[in-house]
Amino acid sequence: MRHTNMNNMSNMSAKSFALAAPAKINLFLHVTGRRDDGYHLLQSIVVFVDAGDHLTFSRHDSLFIDIQGYFADDVGDLRDNLVYKAAQALAQEYDYVPTGQISLQKNLPVASGMGGGSSDAATTLRGLCRLWGLSEEAGRLEKLAAQLGADVPACLYRRPVWMEGVGDKMMRMQDMPDMHLVLATPPVQTPTPEVFKCFARRFSGRYSPPIKHAGRRKSLQEWIADLRFYRNDLTDAAIEVSPDIRTALAAIAATPNCHIARLSGSGATCFGLYDSAGAAQAAVNKLRQEYPHWWIKATGLFKE
Ligand code: ATP
Repeated sequence: MRHTNMNNMSNMSAKSFALAAPAKINLFLHVTGRRDDGYHLLQSIVVFVDAGDHLTFSRHDSLFIDIQGYFADDVGDLRDNLVYKAAQALAQEYDYVPTGQISLQKNLPVASGMGGGSSDAATTLRGLCRLWGLSEEAGRLEKLAAQLGADVPACLYRRPVWMEGVGDKMMRMQDMPDMHLVLATPPVQTPTPEVFKCFARRFSGRYSPPIKHAGRRKSLQEWIADLRFYRNDLTDAAIEVSPDIRTALAAIAATPNCHIARLSGSGATCFGLYDSAGAAQAAVNKLRQEYPHWWIKATGLFKE
């Protein structure tokens, strides 16, 4: 267990509440260009899944953060932790002295393309607003979230979005059916800057018009058919950083009833889409036998 204490540990209250920090998955990711300031222009559908970190908030007379869980030791220095940064940013914005105990259960592999840090940051903003009794004024939290990272505003919303620009333009996607996914992360880290370095401006040149609402709820099969036309443009670069990603994509694609296998974000997490929870669980059982050291999970979309 790792912790930081800004003042002292006395006066801990028993009153606490827990919030989920769901993982994000990029169902596809197109890199369409690069701005003069170096930021890449993207298109993506981002969804949140029922797997992720957990944060528990309780009253405390100073700010105290502890990190536990399987991946706790992989998170870097606490002062660089997005939970700490989010708490400081919120306190500054609302002119509030930061207090409270935040316990982070780090279940997600770090630097794995699932936005764990961004989701932790967004959940910290939500949790501390509640703990400190702040009103979540429209736009104020979103602005703070954007300052913390490109994916943090989507993580605040944590429902499916179409994303464009440098991640700053979001269009809510309503009525998406539940999806049955298998997530598989080989035990390697593929930091986003390293992957973009390998990407070296190999833009696909693809720009897809945003998928419009059909005026009706599209079925899972229709979604899968749509997604076959989309790719993750970072795949080749991520494989250069870690060849295990090629193995993961092939292993997922080879599981029975897998419709598509793709990379999420800059990896190394890969995912497969299936028709049913049963098919996804069968794929997990097979993959766990073949790759006992990988992080492997069957999941659906996150629901509040
Ligand atoms: P991104 O695409 O934003 O780079 P990712 O999904 O690949 O993110 P994360 O697990 O969010 O990966 O980690 C990205 C970086 O953020 C790591 O270098 C990690 O040390 C740092 N980080 C800071 N706070 C956290 C946190 N709470 N959980 C995980 N990583 C964190």
